[in-house]
Amino acid sequence: MAIDFTGLPKTELHIHLEGAIPVESVFTLVRKYGRLSEAPDIEAVRRRYEFDDFAHFLESYRWTVSFLQSPDDYEYVAYEVAGTLARQNVWFTEIMVGLGSGVMDVGHDSADIVRAAWRGLKAAEVQFGIRARLQVATGRQHGVEFAQERLRDIEPLLGEVDICAFNVAGAEHTHPLPQYRGLFERARAMGLRTTMHAGEVSGPGDVYDALDMGAERIGHGIKSALDPQLMAELVRRDIALEVCPVSNEATGAITRLADHPLPRLLRAGVPVTLSSDDPAMFHTSVAREYEVAHEVLGVDCPTLVRIAREGFKRGFMDEPLRAALLARFDAQARAWCAARDVQYPA
Ligand SMILES: [Zn+2]
Repeated sequence: MAIDFTGLPKTELHIHLEGAIPVESVFTLVRKYGRLSEAPDIEAVRRRYEFDDFAHFLESYRWTVSFLQSPDDYEYVAYEVAGTLARQNVWFTEIMVGLGSGVMDVGHDSADIVRAAWRGLKAAEVQFGIRARLQVATGRQHGVEFAQERLRDIEPLLGEVDICAFNVAGAEHTHPLPQYRGLFERARAMGLRTTMHAGEVSGPGDVYDALDMGAERIGHGIKSALDPQLMAELVRRDIALEVCPVSNEATGAITRLADHPLPRLLRAGVPVTLSSDDPAMFHTSVAREYEVAHEVLGVDCPTLVRIAREGFKRGFMDEPLRAALLARFDAQARAWCAARDVQYPA
């Protein structure tokens, strides 16, 4: 029987703001900027998110960012994205703001858009109760120097905006992670936590690099499943992978959803969380990722409840908040299980 995971309390620790904007909100921006010739209705926005290949995905991503013309637009979409998460019973999230396209193509000042996104998240917290933090991200393809400049841009904001981490995503094959070692050292010195995309499309070596660079969590990291020794190392170091199954199929990181390595990672005891990455662009949601794990990948419900709990253990939040959220989680998740005749995991 299909189980709806919307009501299970969850976190969302790997989500890109630009890829998460609900299609209705994108269409609001299409109208605002008088670009109906590019997408005359919401269906047309949705069709923009049917991808032939990875290059097409990147083109659609940049098209979306081209509607974030002013800091107010960032505030608006951050609010909408956090609201969408809250309606899926997500209690804590770290939302990544990408500075690549916004700064390079649109010409934004990094600090302006980060501050604006933060205003949106704060308003969402008041309205929906969701606790939201920001991660700031650039693509590896934008280069080390660009990333260092963006890190410098956001440094003055640190007392004012709750930025929990600096992240790099993108071009794994052409831009090896060790190039970013100094960047992450600097970020840590600024008090930021460390997660990075690694082993999404390239091999296990990328994940070894991330571990070597002190990653506290790893974005995707699914290629670890090709290397039993690496999986054992993740267990030993207690490093969680932020796994996003639907995204991996959509970008071609795996060929078939049914062959996703999540079950193999779980069998090896690797800590994982579940996330949606770019949910609007990949026609998914964090609740749907749980459904897919259950229905397509055969992960049982007690394990999924444990994964949901893992998110609260791994989120970059202060310890009093973690303790409060975990206590609330245990009460509500127990009730969620009882109502569905699901055994609550020990
Ligand atoms: Zn990502």
